[in-house]
Amino acid sequence: MSIFQDNLERLQALKELDGISQADLDSLSSPHKLSYVELEVNNKTYPAWRVLYSSDLGPGKGGIRFHQDVSEDEVQSLAFWMTLKNSLADIPYGGAKGGVKFNPKEADKKELEAVSRAYAKAFHQVLGQDIDVPAPDVYTNSQTMAWILDEYEKIVGHHEPGMITGKPLELGGIKLRSDATAQGGYFVAQEMVKEFLSDHKPEEIKVAVQGFGNAGLFMTEKMAADNFKIVAVSDSQGGVYNETGLDIAALSAHKASGKNVSNYSGGQPMTNAELLEADVDILVLAALENQITSANADKIKAKYIVELANGPIDLAADKYLDAKGTVIVPDILANSGGVIVSYFEWAQNRTGQILDEEYLKNLLEKKMRNNWQRMFNLYQEKGDISLRQAAYILAVRRILTAKRWRGHA
Ligand code: GLU
Repeated sequence: MSIFQDNLERLQALKELDGISQADLDSLSSPHKLSYVELEVNNKTYPAWRVLYSSDLGPGKGGIRFHQDVSEDEVQSLAFWMTLKNSLADIPYGGAKGGVKFNPKEADKKELEAVSRAYAKAFHQVLGQDIDVPAPDVYTNSQTMAWILDEYEKIVGHHEPGMITGKPLELGGIKLRSDATAQGGYFVAQEMVKEFLSDHKPEEIKVAVQGFGNAGLFMTEKMAADNFKIVAVSDSQGGVYNETGLDIAALSAHKASGKNVSNYSGGQPMTNAELLEADVDILVLAALENQITSANADKIKAKYIVELANGPIDLAADKYLDAKGTVIVPDILANSGGVIVSYFEWAQNRTGQILDEEYLKNLLEKKMRNNWQRMFNLYQEKGDISLRQAAYILAVRRILTAKRWRGHA
């Protein structure tokens, strides 16, 4: 089953759960615009997509990923999740996503630059600060954004920093953006702990983190700083386990020196599959989609899961875990800190006003905690739904209200 089919099934469930009409659900069941181009770079061809899923609430917004497994099904699903995420976050954006199918780890800097510029050339007509605004995602970063911005500005003939977010500071980026996804995820993880685990001290709560890239690394550091017992961490090459708790500062330094976490000497090596099944209280998923599926759902021991990645649990596994009583903080809330701070960056670029960093930090925190609370209140009010279903209902309600105001529904 495709990821997008899973999403449509999740959407259809809202008919029963919230009385949303079939016509309304149908209006959200396909993307507004799907653009596909084969990029020609140094005699090689790279399939590339930009999907504007919805622009009911504002311009499209969502990252661009470089990965060898990128597919249309994946990009469309990620664009769908961005649509719900931006709506739930209460920011003025529709949803979008982009991707290029190639392995960036095998490319040198020149090749990465050429692919980024080719992407801007291919899609410049469907991008723009009022049309669709990209950002970093898996294996793209501020340098990628800088190349895309530079190429785009060359084509359109004027400066337009608001056409992309996650930029270097010198090109109109903001400091807060680098660890915003993890920071936002940590605020909602704290809310979850307050709600469900308040009778435990952090040092009694065992945590495993899958993924030690941008989001996973910062999240692990924040949890460790608050004394949570991080017993397992993994990156794409494998993981490391220490029953008494890993020394995260030492592990981060090890990773920063270019090594993989699995050969860190302060614990025993473990596979990614073993990490997911580890005997922990909280499992943080910060890698890719479809990590927990019907193949391993029955082996998951964690009672609490935080989805820092997009779509790490497929529909079948989601149903299984939900029936078992596992509490899952859904991706569209847990990782929304990144796009919320992208919104701050975009607003600053648009207005030319300097936004105070302390003010923005507080605003991110306020938004994340408030969005958790709205989701949690609906979850309690309805009684028999999951946190994900509560989040989906709130997101879809806001989009449909916007559609009505526009006369589109
Ligand atoms: N790629 C990030 C996400 O999946 C950030 C998107 C953005 O900032 O536009 O939420």
